[in-house]
Amino acid sequence: MIEFINVEKKYANGTVALQNINLTIEQGEFVAVIGLSGAGKSTLIRCINRMHDITGGQLNVDNVDVGKLRGRQIRRFRRRIGMIFQSFNLVTRTTVLKNVLVSFVPDLPFWRKLTGIYNREHKIKALEALDKVGILDKAYIRVDQLSGGQQQRVALARTLAQNPDIILADEPIASLDPVTAKMVMDDFKRINQEMNISVIMNIHHVEVALEYADRIIGIHKGAVVFDGESAQVTKEI
Ligand code: ADP
Ligand code: ADP
Repeated sequence: MIEFINVEKKYANGTVALQNINLTIEQGEFVAVIGLSGAGKSTLIRCINRMHDITGGQLNVDNVDVGKLRGRQIRRFRRRIGMIFQSFNLVTRTTVLKNVLVSFVPDLPFWRKLTGIYNREHKIKALEALDKVGILDKAYIRVDQLSGGQQQRVALARTLAQNPDIILADEPIASLDPVTAKMVMDDFKRINQEMNISVIMNIHHVEVALEYADRIIGIHKGAVVFDGESAQVTKEI
């Protein structure tokens, strides 16, 4: 469960990106965060894994006050939270499998991090993750030979291999064509339903948000202006 209690985020330059945010997100929810550019969507999700520190209020994940975590605790905490970006963030000049194996690096002893040696168990887990997003046959292909949609699936597999409770996705389909976008959204939905992983996604395609998410949170000028079930929104429109 993720709880925002009177959360405020003010950047160093004085911009107040979030104010008075009060939200509770239960395990297994599929939440779409919508709003205009600059509304604070990206800031909101990046506070959850402490990519940004909040400047007021409290943010709890499973009853742990995220702001109180230090050093190694933050790294351990982040292992439970996958992050997906618009730009995929993959190493494009190497294979799909190697990109997924990267998610095990924090678990490896120091000497192995240097040599990049993974064990059989890691490889099996990585291949399983690729299978879950339907690109097992691409394991030994270089990432730069894949389409955008396939690359986003590699990013999803890398996150899944980490066995997360939560996946944060920042505009994951913004650079994909509509057909590919739908396939990637289908993957998110399946992962959410079959594995009970919470998905919190920023998305500016409102119709896609309504189709896939269970719950819509509308943000405007750093404040929550709407919070309800997708079905309810469809009726209002
Ligand atoms: P969205 O994701 O909805 O487009 P953001 O969360 O990126 O919105 O931004 C919210 C507000 O915070 C905007 O006014 C933006 O300009 C500002 N902002 C975002 N990141 C920073 C930063 N690192 N420093 C200062 N201001 C920022
Ligand atoms: P390490 O233990 O090697 O320092 P990190 O704590 O940096 O590992 O990252 C662990 C996980 O947290 C990553 O796999 C990623 O999903 C997420 N994460 C943390 N920080 C970032 C970041 N700045 N950008 C993207 N993902 C991040």
